[in-house]
Amino acid sequence: MLLTNGRIYTLDAHDGVVDTLVVRQGRVAFAGRRADVNAAAGEETIDLGGRAVLPGLVDAHGHLMHLARARLSFDARGLASEEEIARRIGERAATRPRGEWIIGRNWDQNLWPGRQFPSKATLDRTAPDHPVALVRIDGHATWANSAALAAGGIDLATPDSPGGLVARDARGEPTGLLVDTAQRLLQRVEPRPSEAQFDRAVRECIVDCLAVGLTGIHEMGAELYALAAYRRLVERGDFPFRNYVAVAGRSASTWDHYRRRGPETIGAGRVVIGALKLLADGALGSRGAALHDAYCDDPGNTGLVLVPGEEVERLTLEAGALGFQVCVHAIGDRANTLVLDAFEHALARAPRPDHRLRVEHAQILAPADIPRFQRLGVLPSMQATHCTSDMAWAAERLGPDRLRGAYAWRSLLATGSVIAGGSDFPVESPNPFHGIHAAVTRRPRGSEDPGWQPEQRMTRQEAVRSFTTWNAYAARQEADLGSLEPGKRADLVVLSDDIFTCADERIPEIRPTLTLLDGEIVFRG
Ligand SMILES: [Zn+2]
Repeated sequence: MLLTNGRIYTLDAHDGVVDTLVVRQGRVAFAGRRADVNAAAGEETIDLGGRAVLPGLVDAHGHLMHLARARLSFDARGLASEEEIARRIGERAATRPRGEWIIGRNWDQNLWPGRQFPSKATLDRTAPDHPVALVRIDGHATWANSAALAAGGIDLATPDSPGGLVARDARGEPTGLLVDTAQRLLQRVEPRPSEAQFDRAVRECIVDCLAVGLTGIHEMGAELYALAAYRRLVERGDFPFRNYVAVAGRSASTWDHYRRRGPETIGAGRVVIGALKLLADGALGSRGAALHDAYCDDPGNTGLVLVPGEEVERLTLEAGALGFQVCVHAIGDRANTLVLDAFEHALARAPRPDHRLRVEHAQILAPADIPRFQRLGVLPSMQATHCTSDMAWAAERLGPDRLRGAYAWRSLLATGSVIAGGSDFPVESPNPFHGIHAAVTRRPRGSEDPGWQPEQRMTRQEAVRSFTTWNAYAARQEADLGSLEPGKRADLVVLSDDIFTCADERIPEIRPTLTLLDGEIVFRG
């Protein structure tokens, strides 16, 4: 196949721009000038019409499993009050048999008047006969009604688990809010969707991801049932996407399976199970992020540590010896210190020159920790849209001093680190152009806001690399992916607008017009 008459940004080491690519057997065979190609007779030719082309965009931190589950559940995104959500849950309950679970996602009390956490009482009024479990937008808290609490056996006598919190009223009664590991009390009793339902949802999510310009993701925490669905789809030839999977360390059965088995590739590089995901703390929105000093808007609370440092160190050594990369979620500055310390100890005990250990989010960093990433060779994996989504309230949580080390891309780049870029979907939209826009502007989409800590902005070149070459490196896939050079897989997107020359406001509107994966057309805009 010959693709010609394009502005093809190869993202090779010299930032090369060419007009023509030749694709053979799913890989780039040539990248250069049309004049230098002798097209063989019968070769399929695609005229790119002068459009910009990028290597396939990859989201380094997404949750396909959760996106598919969210598709099958109630969506509270953007709803403006606790009562509004409860009312809609009541409407849904009225159409369902008594006792059937209602599962949902994406509430955010920061959008409500008063910004109070919700309680079971509102849901008990509208849906008393259906167990209801609604997960907060960041996945770090669940709001349940009394029927769900009863199903999970959660009452006055339930102890708080390590790294979790069962919120209680003055009498010690659970209020219906479960934070971080306490959510597992419900997760273990919630029903799962059927295989057919789940497979269909995964397939629809892949279409959604392709439609915004992604050709792949790094899935940060998948469980066995999701991996089984991906395997079924790959075997059916119905997985037109790439997924580099970190298995969910918090699912004991999943890690148990993979620590016996070792890394696995399904379907010629479509699904690569090569990493272990751990969670060191919670999230900022639910005040579960572990901080060195207390939250400014919650004195005495320093957040939650979900996995102690010694356990991160032990698992890093165990997984590393088996050939797995290790990716640890750390949002608060205390969690980041803890993870960097654990990595440092693990590397001292078992040095591995090319370990590619990752910190997922690296969101709030103590100044002394910023240069440690580069020094230890640890990759920060960051989500630029979190910055623009959180900027309205992050200062209330953190105060001005800690904000300086928050979402500090430029400070990390200045030390010589590269940054894996992602969205953390379904927390944010999977659209990579939203992430690139946030990284280069630090301004919410469509707003006149002057921007936040503009000194931390990335250049467009850096932001695009954080969704291509740097992500390939962050998944140990740079020999195959990330740039359009001879020998690499022909994963690419043809764009509606040139991301390097269009106006800032235009970036989030960019759409793919044609997407190739392994040289095959998987999307047409
Ligand atoms: Zn995540």
